[in-house]
Amino acid sequence: MKAVVIGGGIVGTLIARLLSFYEIDVTLIEKENDVGWGVTKANSGIIHAGYDDEPGTVRASLVVPGNEMYTQLQKDLDFPFMRVGSHVLAFSDKEVETLKELYKRGEKNGVKGMRILDREEVLSMIPKVNPQVKASLYAPSAGIVVPWRVALSASDNFVKNGGKLVLGERVVDVEVEKGRVRKVITDKNEYEADVVINSAGLFADEIAKMAGAESVPIHPRKGEYILLDTQEYTNYVLFPTPSHGSKGMLVVPTLSENTLIGPNAVDLPPDKKDDVSTTDSGLREVYEGAKRLIPSIKLNKVLRTFAGLRPESPQRDFFIKESEKVWGFVNVAAIRSPGLTAAPAIAEYVLEELLQQKLKLNLQKKKEYVKSVRSIQKVSRLSIEEWADLVRKDEKYGNIICVCNRVTEGEIVEAVRRGAITLDSVKFRTGAMCGPCQAARCAMKIAKIISREAGIPIEEILLNADGSNIALRKVRP
Ligand SMILES: Cc1cc2nc3c(=O)[nH]c(=O)nc-3n(C[C@H](O)[C@H](O)[C@H](O)COP(=O)(O)OP(=O)(O)OC[C@H]3O[C@@H](n4cnc5c(N)ncnc54)[C@H](O)[C@@H]3O)c2cc1C
Repeated sequence: MKAVVIGGGIVGTLIARLLSFYEIDVTLIEKENDVGWGVTKANSGIIHAGYDDEPGTVRASLVVPGNEMYTQLQKDLDFPFMRVGSHVLAFSDKEVETLKELYKRGEKNGVKGMRILDREEVLSMIPKVNPQVKASLYAPSAGIVVPWRVALSASDNFVKNGGKLVLGERVVDVEVEKGRVRKVITDKNEYEADVVINSAGLFADEIAKMAGAESVPIHPRKGEYILLDTQEYTNYVLFPTPSHGSKGMLVVPTLSENTLIGPNAVDLPPDKKDDVSTTDSGLREVYEGAKRLIPSIKLNKVLRTFAGLRPESPQRDFFIKESEKVWGFVNVAAIRSPGLTAAPAIAEYVLEELLQQKLKLNLQKKKEYVKSVRSIQKVSRLSIEEWADLVRKDEKYGNIICVCNRVTEGEIVEAVRRGAITLDSVKFRTGAMCGPCQAARCAMKIAKIISREAGIPIEEILLNADGSNIALRKVRP
């Protein structure tokens, strides 16, 4: 039995990882040169508590279980994750009433530990909060995560169990014969398949059409962000009280000790699925929104701005279903927010409910498989004694390449050993190039290490996508 998973975002990689525990040949196909570069790369990185979603929706049923699964998943996959807790802040009596409704909804969805806090409690927990605050809905189970690290670790785990990871190939067709999926065709190869999981994010509607299966139309909803090089404003995730179904502009501490503000929400037409540009008006909106929560917030420490695209569809719910037209084709589409949170539960749902119950694949666990991987040792997290020990074993761990984030040659060599052959792959695995200099001082040094370790000529080293070569000609070693 052969399965092909299309799309290496957080959803596809977690599904592929879970399938790799079973007796089935699995191929994961991703059009980019690494996993986690789609919607999974640019978002708020919040593991939501689960009070937002309307009880009875597919989303509501998967968000709280997904949130809870993160505790074990972090132990297994060794990615940065912390339950910092979140506050929804209310600034009027009407908003306080909305908090009470959210609380009730959260109770129905099974969210544990929520409390409505009065003004004094909020001020004592968040000293820089807007003093006009009246109350907050506090949810201790909310967390923050580095989303692409989940996808990377899940894919490493998948490969360790014998899964075939195909990067840099775009699926262009899905062949169906006598009502069953047969092959997945990319711009470079063909892959036989008895089962196809469509987890192609923004492009899942196009993949479903290729197979002639049911589909939901997907359009991008842009969200712009400003990343600040400081964590002085809050230790908690801060939301405004939601209105018209939007979560509004947030202030979020990150696990790299930065602060993220945003996102706004701008609907784009379906043909703009690659438009991740930021706009002057969008960034102003983000800043004004953040100031409502933390009036002292300043833009004197901006690290960068960026935008992400939510895969939105008219039914506003996830579309996770086996096809009734094409046997073996499974849609895992329209995974809008809070898809990061729900992703581990989505993977279990696809395996247990769709593949085992509905398609009756009767998959058996392998006799031997691993469910955990270790991430690359981070020198910046070690004590000076631990670091010295590491350098004694391998002196490359003593050669600092990214000065801003203290990332060493040893860590970069290890990233290349794990398959990173573009600058962004190294960045997402090691945290190099993310500091205040934004790669100005280390990009070329990293390119040379990739070139040396992977045996790729320097002029062929890419920033990320094909055509993004960073050196035009050979440079001195
Ligand atoms: C602004 C914003 C904020 C968000 N904030 C949060 C949050 O705080 N918490 C939360 O829980 N969720 C949040 N989300 C939602 C979350 O990011 C998504 O639900 C999740 O990342 C979706 O993952 P995915 O794997 O379905 O999609 P993706 O990560 O997009 O993965 C799909 C993959 O398929 C690949 N692909 C597409 N077409 C093809 C093809 N033809 N061939 C091969 N590969 C293909 C893509 O390159 C991509 O890598 C947010 C989203 C946005 C945009």
